[in-house]
Amino acid sequence: MTLHAPYDPSNIFAKILRGEIPAVKVWEDDAVLVFMDVFPQSEGHVLVISKTSQARNLLEVEPETLAALTAATRRTAAAVVKALSPEGFSIMQFNGEAGGQTVFHLHFHIIPRWADRPLKGHGQAGMADMDALKATAERIRAALA
Ligand code: 5GP
Repeated sequence: MTLHAPYDPSNIFAKILRGEIPAVKVWEDDAVLVFMDVFPQSEGHVLVISKTSQARNLLEVEPETLAALTAATRRTAAAVVKALSPEGFSIMQFNGEAGGQTVFHLHFHIIPRWADRPLKGHGQAGMADMDALKATAERIRAALA
């Protein structure tokens, strides 16, 4: 998928937004949805998406959508740190297939990091245990300011 293509409403995050497939949600408001990555690269890997925009990548996003996504990413990262006590965290955002993107609905990854835990490869992690994912989401939700 190139950087320049129409938005595909059958992408997996659009299906999550429409409630057609399940997701382990952390929190949401009118503008954003924050949910657990089902193939986590580390414990507590969270995704942040817009509920209103059809931007596929950073080049297409409206300024007000980007502002909402950035604020939600910061708020969620603070909760992740409080809940899981990582030693650091990575914010990742991929654009275009050649840039590593696999789902073409703009999103930010929040990936907690520990020095002694190697990061699983992007797109190479196994599926999470659903009960463990729900428990982690609950811990992050409880730590939201
Ligand atoms: P990208 O490669 O586009 O930056 O990131 C897409 C992310 O979506 C990946 O980290 C992948 O693990 C995650 N993902 C793919 N399919 C699903 C799904 O059905 N549910 C959830 N929660 N995450 C998914």
